[in-house]
Amino acid sequence: MTAALAAYAAREEDSRGRQHAEPAPVARGEFQRDRDRIIHSTAFRRLEYKTQVFVNHEGDLFRTRLTHSIEVAQISRGIARALRLNEDLAEAIALAHDLGHTPFGHAGQDALNECMKGYGGFEHNFQSLRTVDLLEEHYAAFDGLNLMWETREGILKHCSPGHAAELGDLGRRFLDRTQPSLEAQLANLADEIAYNNHDIDDGLRSGLLSLELLESVEVFRVQRQRVEAAHPGVGGRRLIHETIRRMINLMVLDLIRQTEANIHANGVLSLEDVRASGPLVAFSDPLKPQLQALKKFLREHLYWHYQVLRMADKAKRIVRSLFDAFMENPRLLPPQYFIRCTADKPRAIADYIAGMTDRYAVREHRRIFAVDEIH
Ligand code: MG
Repeated sequence: MTAALAAYAAREEDSRGRQHAEPAPVARGEFQRDRDRIIHSTAFRRLEYKTQVFVNHEGDLFRTRLTHSIEVAQISRGIARALRLNEDLAEAIALAHDLGHTPFGHAGQDALNECMKGYGGFEHNFQSLRTVDLLEEHYAAFDGLNLMWETREGILKHCSPGHAAELGDLGRRFLDRTQPSLEAQLANLADEIAYNNHDIDDGLRSGLLSLELLESVEVFRVQRQRVEAAHPGVGGRRLIHETIRRMINLMVLDLIRQTEANIHANGVLSLEDVRASGPLVAFSDPLKPQLQALKKFLREHLYWHYQVLRMADKAKRIVRSLFDAFMENPRLLPPQYFIRCTADKPRAIADYIAGMTDRYAVREHRRIFAVDEIH
């Protein structure tokens, strides 16, 4: 496989390796091993019961972080293969990118970040890295999953300067403003392609969005018109799915073409060139404003819909009251988290809350606050 990789792809033989030395894998590559470790992790299984926009119990048909991560991985692999980049690395990064998310999506993360103000803050990308570096308990010899440096680099999509400084080599690019591998850059934009499209789908399915409202979004309207021209009379779910399918395809192909052009225009010949250039994986200039308009539409009509905000508000109260209760009396924590309070109480509590699924957080809230619950 390596022979077919482009000169600027990440290669396992040039990797900065793992934190703990391990024998080379048999019958699979190092990045395949990372992907396998991520899929077998506890945090990965929990993604099934963590949400993006809707809370897990709101409906069986909505995306969860697990199905979202699988969609991101699938889009990432397609882009990586077309650009002759390291598909295994892109897949591993994509599957792990949301491991550090709190319950209840962005509402949960915002609430936990507020709680952690003054204690180092809470960032979900940094938490994804903590999960694979420290929190998973799968190996006898070390904490975490001991992933390859390049996989960890890709997982750490954003990072505050404070946290970056703690991470040494891995955080340096946030301080000196260099770029990560192309595999990391593409997984980041594959995430955007996935959620922009599936949020339209889930928004329509929930009834919070309508086809009429979406007429104002150019990138949707043009594809819908093409579907209707090719299939007169098509309607319902088929029309929606055909339109979204074409939108994903359009965005993926645009990204591939523009990225190839950027690589060429910048004379990029190696991974070192990639790191020293500006961001190379990008959408074209004509598509960018259309994607901005789509995001703005989703923010105004879906993420800020009063029904979504009511749920988000409840979610924030749950996270905040759990945090406060544990801060006040850490002995309420399960023993494995309580013992970590000696070293850093707020961080141990944040790790416990961040690891919860939506429904676990709801139950835990009931166990702590409802007097008719036994334990
Ligand atoms: Mg994501």
